[in-house]
Amino acid sequence: MWSINLSFLYITSIAILITIGLSCRSAQQQRIVDCNESEDVFYCADTLCAKIYHGHIDTIYGNMPPDMYYDMDETITFPLVFKIHNQNENARKVDPREVTKSIEVLNKAFAPSAIRFELRSIETVSDAKNLQQVTQNSYEAYPDFSLQHDVKNAITIHLLDDNGQYCDKVNEVVSCRRVHGFTYILNYQYPNIVLSKPDLLNEKVMPHEMGHFFGLFHTHRSVEGEESIMRADCETTGDHICSTPADPGPLYSVYIDYTRCEMIGYIDENGYEYKPMINNYMSYYYPCYRKAFAFTEEQYIVMRTAALSNVRNHLIQPSLAN
Ligand SMILES: [Zn+2]
Repeated sequence: MWSINLSFLYITSIAILITIGLSCRSAQQQRIVDCNESEDVFYCADTLCAKIYHGHIDTIYGNMPPDMYYDMDETITFPLVFKIHNQNENARKVDPREVTKSIEVLNKAFAPSAIRFELRSIETVSDAKNLQQVTQNSYEAYPDFSLQHDVKNAITIHLLDDNGQYCDKVNEVVSCRRVHGFTYILNYQYPNIVLSKPDLLNEKVMPHEMGHFFGLFHTHRSVEGEESIMRADCETTGDHICSTPADPGPLYSVYIDYTRCEMIGYIDENGYEYKPMINNYMSYYYPCYRKAFAFTEEQYIVMRTAALSNVRNHLIQPSLAN
């Protein structure tokens, strides 16, 4: 048996996460630009990509233990290699103690899944690309970046400089968008997470990305259909997880009372009121003032199942026992 202990989580202030889950690629052209962006998740138009993508998700959900009692007694460890990419001599410095601290935050968030992370090494890359250079033109540079810098037999965490230019002015209208980090959702080919250096110590960003890495969707996902409040369809719509309530998404965050961590007064067409889990790591809401970030038990089970699946289990650190 296991239980969720949330007392170790702390509330911090963050901007809305703009995070992508890259979930498919064209086998023919090996280019993410062939994919269409939708709700910050990339999808390929061709059948092959779609099949690969859904195959991964089926791997998780098809193996979900029906009684929800999954053996999590044995802790599994994933080694992390941090790569600090310095664009030039003025690049933002990353103190190794910050890396250690970020792993502590991650391990507390993942403890109930009996998944832990261990630092293998910290490496430096000179004359590196910054986050904007890797993400521009629909992440055009990302496949080569990944191929060049990912390590084998570990999860590579890339820390990139960030030019701080998040806003554009077009016809006197200013729009702002910021990428804090991104990763694939349960994908063989890119076993990495990319973060902007300033987000290393953000207590939501790293667990959020690691949640994607181990198969979790955003709680407000609507790609397969919007989850209804009564959630008869919770296994096949929304984030496919029934323990996270229907989430209309950050557009409706004006309805949230963050002091009570509750959405109040947003009613659907049937007269039911939305009560999303504001403090869920996989939501796009701001942190609640007095409630810690959390995963649900079912999310932990999905991540554990994903971690043991053949998409991720080759990254598990071999046990030294015996
Ligand atoms: Zn995300």
